Amino acid sequence: MKTKETSTWIETASLPTFSKLSKNLTTDVAIIGGGLAGLLSAYVLAKEGKKVVVIEKDRLAAKATGYTTGFLSQLIDTDTSDLIEMFSEADTRKIWVSHGDAIDLIEKIVKDEKIDCEFMRCKNYVYANDSRERKELDSEFSEMKKLKFDVSMKAVELGFKNRGVMTINKQGKYHDRKFIAGLLPALQRMGVELYEQTEVTDIVGNSPFTVKAGKHEVTADWTITATYQPFNNPSEVFLKKGMYKSYILELEVPKGKYPEGTYEDMDNPYHYFRVDAGKGAKGKDRLIIGGEDHRAEIPMNKKNFDVLEDYAEDLFGKRYPVVRNWSGFILESVDGLPFIGQYKLGNLLATAFSGNGMTYSAISAMIFRDIIAHKKNPYTALYSPERSQTFTQLWKKGRDFGEEFLKGALANVFK
Ligand SMILES: Cc1cc2nc3c(=O)[nH]c(=O)nc-3n(C[C@H](O)[C@H](O)[C@H](O)COP(=O)(O)OP(=O)(O)OC[C@H]3O[C@@H](n4cnc5c(N)ncnc54)[C@H](O)[C@@H]3O)c2cc1C
Repeated sequence: MKTKETSTWIETASLPTFSKLSKNLTTDVAIIGGGLAGLLSAYVLAKEGKKVVVIEKDRLAAKATGYTTGFLSQLIDTDTSDLIEMFSEADTRKIWVSHGDAIDLIEKIVKDEKIDCEFMRCKNYVYANDSRERKELDSEFSEMKKLKFDVSMKAVELGFKNRGVMTINKQGKYHDRKFIAGLLPALQRMGVELYEQTEVTDIVGNSPFTVKAGKHEVTADWTITATYQPFNNPSEVFLKKGMYKSYILELEVPKGKYPEGTYEDMDNPYHYFRVDAGKGAKGKDRLIIGGEDHRAEIPMNKKNFDVLEDYAEDLFGKRYPVVRNWSGFILESVDGLPFIGQYKLGNLLATAFSGNGMTYSAISAMIFRDIIAHKKNPYTALYSPERSQTFTQLWKKGRDFGEEFLKGALANVFK
């Protein structure tokens, strides 16, 4: 079987095209960037009765959103014990609840708009590969139990070798581009204007703002920059992010061999995979596995796919056919939390989602809705782009990134 070098989501869901911006416009909210963060924000704001314009440089959902793995998870990329140390127990609980709210929002939209996008509630299994990982898993479990998270360490038969597993209940997964395909008619019905192949080069003024895009301008009371890496490099977050690259393989596995759900291990950099029952060829199951992350500046590519395939072979005891492979970029912040909210100029911003941008996109939409309506939101301060970092946060996350480098990119060079 020849491996296709493209993502499952891009290849199995096509989206309609939209024209370039060809006139000046006035609107309540101008959203720059048509990935999941921009489009979910557009939906939530249009539901509130706002007039919304979305401006996309390329095509909708064709960048990070097209190269995801689509887990909907309350567990973020920073360990719970580290979050407690870097922030507090109360904030760690807030982070957990915010991602729960995000999954609920996506589920509600799927139901309200009757979107056929493979959405399902499922379990997220966190497994240990060896005794060191098991020790860490036990300590994570006890911290999560203390915070009353819905987790269990009961033995589960997963169909592959492991040294213990923690089950997180009521998580989710979906096909995000099918979700977006179902969201677009709802956006159009609510009057959201969508423009593609239109690059925004500047935002000037202050309420109203002027959004400059080629020969044209959009005048808006609010702007939302949802361009993944903020195109205008706001100084508040400029030096507080780092880009990583992650590698993905889609494998075809026997039907029913592994429980449907999402999975991750305790390694650093960690591995993650999802099992989608009946979504492979001829009714087989689809298993999408990712990992081998490293700083994007380090030039590595094919080798990391090979290392990932070896990891999968070792885990499952068998080399499964690789249907597709792709890679994507993950933007991390220096303290492990994203920057969502208002910054100095009065513009709104959503960036540095780590590997949790499906849920952070929904969290952003809810934060923006409340900021614009001048309502309180429980997560505004936690995720604010204007927050400052403590020494403990920088030191702890820095050590984590260092370990990821040594055990990931550097180790793979010698494999
Ligand atoms: C390999 C991989 C696996 C992942 N797995 C998961 C997962 O399982 N669960 C999870 O929660 N998250 C996951 N993520 C993260 C998640 O996919 C992303 O965080 C999320 O899709 C980001 O959406 P976005 O809208 O912020 O960015 P994007 O989808 O990148 O959208 C930003 C858009 O802005 C446009 N743009 C840029 N500059 C301009 C400009 N100047 N003018 C106009 N438009 C502009 C771009 O063209 C782009 O379309 C993963 C990411 C990767 C790469």
